[in-house]
This record gives sequence, C-alpha cells and structure tokens, in this order.
Amino acid sequence: MLRSERLEWVTDHVDRAKRSLIMAAVHSKNTKPEMAVRKIVHALGYRYRLYDIGLPGRPDLVFPSRWKVIFVHGCFWHRHPKCKYTTTPKSRVDFWELKFCANVARDRRTRRELEKLGWAVLTVWQCELKKPGKLTERLNDFLAD
Ligand SMILES: [Zn+2]
Repeated sequence: MLRSERLEWVTDHVDRAKRSLIMAAVHSKNTKPEMAVRKIVHALGYRYRLYDIGLPGRPDLVFPSRWKVIFVHGCFWHRHPKCKYTTTPKSRVDFWELKFCANVARDRRTRRELEKLGWAVLTVWQCELKKPGKLTERLNDFLAD
C-alpha cells in the first residue's frame, strides 16, 4: 500500500486515539514503543545494535554477541492475537484482511529465517508497554544467560 493511501485511510476512518497508535506504526523506525523498549533494555545493562540490515526483517534491537534479536510490534499492523488493539476497519474489509495476512505471514517467515541462522527471537507487543514491570521481567528472562 502506498504511504499516501495509508495516511488517507487514517484520516478518514479512525478516531483520534487510534490515529496516534497507527501513526506510530507507519513511521516504522524510532517509534515510541521502540524507544521505550530500548530504554528498559539499556537500564537492564544490555547493549544492542540498531537495525542490522544484514538480518532478515531488520530486527529493531540486535544483540550480536548473544545471538538474540528483538522486534517491537504494533498490535494493529502485526495482529497481536487476542489483543484489544487488534481491530479490523469496518470498510474495505477484504483489503485489510489481505494486508494483515501478508504482515503475519511475513513476520512468521522472518522469525523462521532468523532461527534457522541461529538467532533467538523475541517479539514485544506494543500493548505490553502498559505493564512495564512485567515487560522488564520478560526482557530480562530473554536476554539473560
Ligand atoms: Zn497487543
């Protein structure tokens, strides 16, 4: 989908609150959720690299010496299962279903490729940032060892 189409859709169909969530996803790099995850990881004492373009899917955080990567995913675009932010627009439903299916399939493929190369993959969902304590624990569990 073209960027202009996305913006048009956003303007037409979403309320103010949802709009800010979606805009964060449209600007796929340096989003607020990513920054928040980086901050937690940094506070835990781990050092990462950003956007290693040599890797499938361009993970948001890369920990080369640990062979670990983290993706920070928006619930809406990446279809977080059973999440209240995983809504489906009321118009052009087929179009959106197709778009979402492609996103999910791509994420699955990316994870498989990375794992095949020996990388451990963690997906952090945007909504998890609402419970920073729990997320911090999850990040620490993943990065430790
Ligand atoms: Zn979610």
